Amino acid sequence: MKLFNTLTRTKEEFKPIEPGHVKMYACGPTVYNYFHLGNARPFVTFDTLRRYLEYSGYEVEFCQNFTDIDDKMIKRANEEGVTVKDIAERYIKEYYIDADGLNCKRPTYQPRATESIGAIIGIVKALYDQGVAYVIDGDGVYYDVTKKDDYGKLSHYNLEDLNPGGGERKASYDGKRNPGDFALWKFKKEGEPFWNSPWGEGRPGWHIECSAMIKKHLGNTIDIHGGGQDLIFPHHENEIAQSEAANCCTLANYWVHNAFVNVDGEKMSKSLGNFFTIRDIAAHFPYEVIRFFILSGHYRMPINFSDELLKASQTGLQRIATCAANLKFNIESDAYTGDDQAASDAVKAAAKEAHDSFVAHMDDDLNTADAVTDIYTLVKAANTAIDNKASKEALKVALDMLNEITDVLGIVLKVEEDIPAEITDLVEQRAAAKKAKDFAEADRIRDLITSKGYSVKDTPNGPQVEKL
Ligand SMILES: [Zn+2]
Repeated sequence: MKLFNTLTRTKEEFKPIEPGHVKMYACGPTVYNYFHLGNARPFVTFDTLRRYLEYSGYEVEFCQNFTDIDDKMIKRANEEGVTVKDIAERYIKEYYIDADGLNCKRPTYQPRATESIGAIIGIVKALYDQGVAYVIDGDGVYYDVTKKDDYGKLSHYNLEDLNPGGGERKASYDGKRNPGDFALWKFKKEGEPFWNSPWGEGRPGWHIECSAMIKKHLGNTIDIHGGGQDLIFPHHENEIAQSEAANCCTLANYWVHNAFVNVDGEKMSKSLGNFFTIRDIAAHFPYEVIRFFILSGHYRMPINFSDELLKASQTGLQRIATCAANLKFNIESDAYTGDDQAASDAVKAAAKEAHDSFVAHMDDDLNTADAVTDIYTLVKAANTAIDNKASKEALKVALDMLNEITDVLGIVLKVEEDIPAEITDLVEQRAAAKKAKDFAEADRIRDLITSKGYSVKDTPNGPQVEKL
């Protein structure tokens, strides 16, 4: 598989450190609110990468954290007059409702920053002992970015960009040695949660949390580190600086970043106030449609959010689900008696082609956009196969492949829903009425079925019922 690596700005062949095993980390949510569509994109993207790596035969250890202590959390807690922990508990619960809805598999490890304080202090201490970190009295412990020769290698910024005016202005940056220096440990302020440390009571900076949780759960060097592209600088650059200086080895071999979700050409973000939470969107569209919408674009391309585009995704997903339902219906129907050899051969070949093309697209830097097109191509072939009376065995090959590749994308096809006995009884009564040529009665029963939220369609292979 090839992945675009932000470090080298090229697509590279993915080679894990240990054959058959992948260690992957993605930055998780700060749990002070519901998450929005822009936040959801990395969750879905890295869940899909994980699913595809597993499908390709790798064993994946995936860690995604919760940031449960930072300025925004403290502010929210103070506004509501509750503890930071209360806020974290509430929004972690809400996170799971949406993330489970989006069918994101639970990560192997999902640590909270506040449960990783020991690991955080361990890294800060290693940096301090090496002289890479220094204390600003009354403020905190800071990282000196000039102590690492390759600082800026991920974002491709250099220190000159970060240090306008050079050395002589150093003293003016609130006691920092360099303007790009960042806090590893923030000393306690009145009313803030705090932990003990060798430098004084306080709380961790944001960047150090991820460095610590990676080390604690996955080790010093991991295969893949992911996140949204807005995290490249300074967050990921600083993770690299801290981890590599403290551990004296590479933090991650592949850095994978997803692009933004835009609204009217602007990045969706809480600070711009143009965001739509997943919870809000889920009130109008099923979760699986939101996931399908996210995966319909390549992860490195911006996607635009609009009602129309979500509706288009809904229609597209419905087409796939309907195809799966039709295949299942005909495979199980006694009335279906397809046995056309050419049609059977054609749909089996289409299933194999869809699989091979899907794998080729996913191998090419997780190109889910074209992988979705492969699904549509298979749907078209499957629909033709039913019309052309392919064998049930051939239809089953198509259905299994459709389920297999949609499952790799984590796309749920809602076809398993059982039709209630009340409705099946009515469908039988209607069929009996039609047989007796009592069409008025048949129509009456059809209306009754519709009023109960189901549709009944006559097909050459018998009546087919669907939930409206
Ligand atoms: Zn992070």
